[in-house]
Amino acid sequence: MEGVKPFDVIVVGAGPAGATTALALARAGVCVGVVEKARFPRRKVCGEFISETSWPLLQELGLDSCLRAQAGPRVRRVAVFVGEREVAATVASRAPNHGGRAIGRDLLDTALLGQAQALGATVLQRWTLSGIEDGGDDYACRLSRLRGDETLECRARLLIAAHGSWQSGVLPTQRFGRDAQDRDLFGFKAHFGASPLPPDLMPLFAFPGGYLETANGTTIAGSCSSLPYYPAMANLLSFVTALAAGDELSLVNKSVNGVDISSSSGTSTATAASSSGASGHDESECG
Ligand SMILES: Cc1cc2nc3c(=O)[nH]c(=O)nc-3n(C[C@H](O)[C@H](O)[C@H](O)COP(=O)(O)OP(=O)(O)OC[C@H]3O[C@@H](n4cnc5c(N)ncnc54)[C@H](O)[C@@H]3O)c2cc1C
Repeated sequence: MEGVKPFDVIVVGAGPAGATTALALARAGVCVGVVEKARFPRRKVCGEFISETSWPLLQELGLDSCLRAQAGPRVRRVAVFVGEREVAATVASRAPNHGGRAIGRDLLDTALLGQAQALGATVLQRWTLSGIEDGGDDYACRLSRLRGDETLECRARLLIAAHGSWQSGVLPTQRFGRDAQDRDLFGFKAHFGASPLPPDLMPLFAFPGGYLETANGTTIAGSCSSLPYYPAMANLLSFVTALAAGDELSLVNKSVNGVDISSSSGTSTATAASSSGASGHDESECG
């Protein structure tokens, strides 16, 4: 065990919320530590779309150019598919040269955290907050390394909970007070090397019990209610099979209605990440 490490602020979680907060604090000269249980870069269940209105924030954080260079093509159209019905619209834009784009969370989150570190934040990856004691003026915190029994004692005047959802732990925000329920959602994401979807279209497929969206034509993200909706899961699998097989969009859409496409011969080259955190392999060029 090392000596007590003093921080002004400890941020728990280095997703977009935590990393951006740490970046802003470090830039303002605050002594900030970021505790993240995963090692970046890592994949994350997410549609990965960043709207046009969010890109100026990335510019303000100094990451606009390098992230834009790695992002997918500009999304110009959105369409909602429900059964045989389709409603499409052009995405309104105030910035003719920019617009919304998708970027992998392995790239985005790593770039944000790297920028926070470059500005002076202390980054502790594969660590978690394992104990807190309210000392009145500050908090005594125990950090634990995820593999091994190493611990680190810290003090911080402020703790920021940026750990996302459904992660239990010692913070009050990590006590959910209930077990999993039927209406809870199952999140899913896969990347495909090729797809029949137009690259500038962001389609959203709705079906009983769930939805699927794609951004940049190669990322599928979706959510399904779990137990009562086995048909929804079957539809989800049909959709992914059709897309991986390179089928036309119309067939893909029909598959969501439960049409049997089991004869599709294509093979999926997809990788999938679950919300329990599969680790990524891509390297970020930012930060
Ligand atoms: C299916 C799906 C599709 C989505 N599509 C989009 C989209 O297209 N565009 C969009 O903008 N948003 C989308 N979202 C929402 C987006 O993913 C979230 O809004 C975003 O991830 C929230 O960021 P966050 O930083 O609050 O939390 P998270 O991104 O969840 O980050 C939390 C971090 O905290 C870490 N952590 C957790 N517990 C601990 C702990 N005890 N100790 C240390 N570290 C810990 C985790 O490892 C993680 O890195 C989607 C979400 C889902 C489920």
